[in-house]
Amino acid sequence: MRRLFIAGNWKMNNTLAQACALVEGVRGALPREPSVDVAVCPPFTLLVPIGQQLAGTCIKLGAQDVYFEPKGAFTGEISAEMLKDAGCTYVIIGHSERRHKLGETDKVVSKKVRAALSGGMEVILCVGETLEQRHADQTEQVVAEQIDAAFGDDLADPLRITVAYEPVWAIGTGHNATPEQAQHAHEFIRSRLGAMYNKDVADRLRVQYGGSVNPSNAKGLLSQPDVDGALVGGASLNADDFTAIIQAAIKAKRSSG
Ligand code: PEP
Repeated sequence: MRRLFIAGNWKMNNTLAQACALVEGVRGALPREPSVDVAVCPPFTLLVPIGQQLAGTCIKLGAQDVYFEPKGAFTGEISAEMLKDAGCTYVIIGHSERRHKLGETDKVVSKKVRAALSGGMEVILCVGETLEQRHADQTEQVVAEQIDAAFGDDLADPLRITVAYEPVWAIGTGHNATPEQAQHAHEFIRSRLGAMYNKDVADRLRVQYGGSVNPSNAKGLLSQPDVDGALVGGASLNADDFTAIIQAAIKAKRSSG
């Protein structure tokens, strides 16, 4: 009942020419109306031209970050209204690279989530533990703190959030979580959301896996019952690889009925 969702996080990559070629390659290889949701999240400079290129296709546009204030003297920042205006449906918030390399805290993430939802956007909320935290058996505690900070009673519509479980040790390393590790974390996230809201919300809210997803491991990860898609970094920069991951999602959906 949850539609799988594959999103590509391009990070700080691609010129306009490279981006157009990439989108053309993906668009041309996909069915007109695939049975899964697909989005690409280019850097800010490419949002408008790539949004124009995606018009009339099944691929939605997402941004990689948003600021929590609506407007004003915040040099270098971008508001939810601006992202909407540029054609974005989604925005990634709390990516581990922002949390760990740029010092983004749970409090800032929480403010960004609220700003994005009030601005009419859908959120891809990233959570996940570091290797040290996993080795110290703190995965559930860390993920619970990140989930609790971002969600809460004041959110009118938690279903406009997709959680992306992205273990930090798996991002860009080539070492993906095993399907069993991913399923375990996703099940935990869903149960946490069930306790915070109710079973209906927990059953309907999507939880993507992210961390070194590629065409070879996609099938195993996407066939787990609580894995509702993937947030793909490196492999989303290659049209054949990204398309193969989307095709794996389409097949996973079919085989699970
Ligand atoms: C990401 O950036 O969200 C990510 C999962 O990257 P990669 O697929 O390269 O590990």
